Amino acid sequence: MSLSTKLPFFIIIDDGAFPKVHGNRGELIPFSAYETILRLAETFNMRIPICFTMGYMDLGRRSSQTTPLPYAEKLIKFIKRNEHRIEFGEHGLYHRFKETTYEYYNPDTDDGPSEIEQQQKIKIIGDIFKDIGRPFPTLQVPPAHGWQPGVTDRLYAQAGIRDTVSYRWKKYTLSLQDLTNPKRLYKGLSSYAYIWPDSEYTNFFPRASMGIIASDYNPHGSLFTEKVKRYIQPSAYPYRRLLHRAKNQFAVHSYMTHIANFAGPDAFDFWSGLFRWVENSDHLVLAHDNEEAKSFYLALPGSLKPFSGQNQANEDVS
Ligand SMILES: [Zn+2]
Repeated sequence: MSLSTKLPFFIIIDDGAFPKVHGNRGELIPFSAYETILRLAETFNMRIPICFTMGYMDLGRRSSQTTPLPYAEKLIKFIKRNEHRIEFGEHGLYHRFKETTYEYYNPDTDDGPSEIEQQQKIKIIGDIFKDIGRPFPTLQVPPAHGWQPGVTDRLYAQAGIRDTVSYRWKKYTLSLQDLTNPKRLYKGLSSYAYIWPDSEYTNFFPRASMGIIASDYNPHGSLFTEKVKRYIQPSAYPYRRLLHRAKNQFAVHSYMTHIANFAGPDAFDFWSGLFRWVENSDHLVLAHDNEEAKSFYLALPGSLKPFSGQNQANEDVS
């Protein structure tokens, strides 16, 4: 990578409308989380996408599997007033498949609901959007990054989705055994548990973890901030290999965050500090909305886009 190539930095927020950190359990998500996001968007002149799990917005009670967020109506009005600062994206119906947080496909077991069942879920989502007086969004993050190529993306494209933002690969999880044997360790650090292709039906934009998990309710502190910066590209080789299993430098469209990461009292300071750091970085460029993140990503050389069909950047891993 040429050091003059700045890599895009953008965030998309998952788990919108979750009443609690893990949907129905964990700490409550206060309305102030959304106000914090708005304040960030205003401060940095951004339009930040929040992708909503629509079962928690089911005001017309189309389904009995979820209870709507207590402040769903207030939130819908809040977003309507701030449409230029917050993009309304989609993040599944229940965020659940059997005992997992997947919805449409479980890459761990190669299992998922049938096409008919997926279609029914997406139909209910469409009905919920009608109930709340919104069009079906154009941006989607599949729950837990699980989607069935050729099926989920086709059904979503028919509903109106144009952009799917999701993980390109699922990391192989290192075991204790891997740590005891250098050959195993090397293989573990080079392995992916699953790789998703591009979609034939929607624009697929890859994202990555920035080391912030759903239960990071109040991100703060210099240690935490340093850890997060390690995850963000362009990171040094050992971190890239360990944290992302990537041999070569790669780019993403955006990074994953969760609604809970904006809930705590220090969240605004943490996020605004990180955005400032990106703005002042020689290697990163802050995208201000999804359209800008897309154009930054698309303008990058193919060598930075593993598994996009344009290069074989990680050809030695399987
Ligand atoms: Zn999620």
